[in-house]
Amino acid sequence: MLLKTLLNFVEKHKGFVYDSLRLIHRNGIPRIEIRILPRKNSRPICSICEEPGPIHETSRELREFQYVPIWGIAVVFLYAMRRVDCKNCGTPKVEKVPWARGKHRLTTSFSRFLAVWARRLPWQEVASIFGTTWSRVYDAVCWAVAWGREHQDLSGVTAIGVDEVAYKKGHNYLTVVYQINEGCRRLLWIGVDRTEETLRGFFSWFGKTRSETIEFICSDMWRPYLNVISSCAEKAVHILDRFHIMQNMGKALDEVRRQEASRLKAEGREPVLKDSRWCILKRVVNLTKTQIAKLKELMQYNLKTTRAYLLKEDFQHFWEYTSSTWAGKFLDAWCTRTMRSRIEPMKKMAKSLRKHRELILNWFKAQKQFSSGVVEGLNNKIKTTTKKSYGFRSVEVLKIALYHTIADLPLPPATHEF
Ligand SMILES: [Zn+2]
Repeated sequence: MLLKTLLNFVEKHKGFVYDSLRLIHRNGIPRIEIRILPRKNSRPICSICEEPGPIHETSRELREFQYVPIWGIAVVFLYAMRRVDCKNCGTPKVEKVPWARGKHRLTTSFSRFLAVWARRLPWQEVASIFGTTWSRVYDAVCWAVAWGREHQDLSGVTAIGVDEVAYKKGHNYLTVVYQINEGCRRLLWIGVDRTEETLRGFFSWFGKTRSETIEFICSDMWRPYLNVISSCAEKAVHILDRFHIMQNMGKALDEVRRQEASRLKAEGREPVLKDSRWCILKRVVNLTKTQIAKLKELMQYNLKTTRAYLLKEDFQHFWEYTSSTWAGKFLDAWCTRTMRSRIEPMKKMAKSLRKHRELILNWFKAQKQFSSGVVEGLNNKIKTTTKKSYGFRSVEVLKIALYHTIADLPLPPATHEF
């Protein structure tokens, strides 16, 4: 039969043969059942120590293993497991079969197949398209991620970015570490929370030798991160990068706007700040026509928000400098001006910039090679995945999903390629 030929082409295993095949209907659903038999005189392999031994007994029940469906028809392998009289292990052990892992009911080929699709589609969709369950898809992804993390190449990681990501509406955080080298940008590691202990977890996973070869680290001004980076990667140039600084600046500006909007409302004044959020937070070039009109209107009022907006926009010039000395002079002047502005959130921002002056100027010393786009791009990918993750039951599931989609992990080898 042709199916057998195909099976022997894609999935041939030493010591076993494909025996009978049949197409049946179970509860009205068609499926192909493929019976597998051990070759005569073949010795089963112990699943614990992986040594062959004599047969202790053969199960009377057939175990089912889900295989890759074809033409919309489910395919299962049926096999009577043997038990091995294992000399090493003492007591009889169940045998190891080459098409599946441990007690799993998915064949390895089907696991890989599901994992590949789970990179492109939501897991529930993968499950329903290929006639399996969400938890089996999850299982397949866990296996692929574990394999990928074990086999990934971590050489040449000389630039990393550390970031925090909020998840599940509220104050739940993940610490994520990216590789941000030119030509190789990927998620490396995820830890729950954003404490010093969390980030220490990264460095102990990454290892002391590799940590010593890190040349650049980008992060935001979060104190626990700063502490750990200065102690675990002493030799690296630590950069407070453009993306994180502008993100904080945006937060400060937004706070000014919110405070002022509620003050205007309390005083019963015209709500000029209504719908202004994005037109002050976005860069001018990205504004729509309506937003530009709104911005022009805002500029006619003497508001704290407009003054804070001008300070933020002025700060963009900072990034255009090439010399760190001149950038430093600009930074100092900007901070002095802002400290006199009497706008509290902006003053706080200026204080923090002063405090981290050196780490910020490191960006110029690193010849600006880590543009804000790198961290920002990876950050956005994480956000897309976390948003999709409402169906994810726990943070562990979310971590697996992030590794699977963003870490660029190698996949376990396939039995054949397209
Ligand atoms: Zn054994």
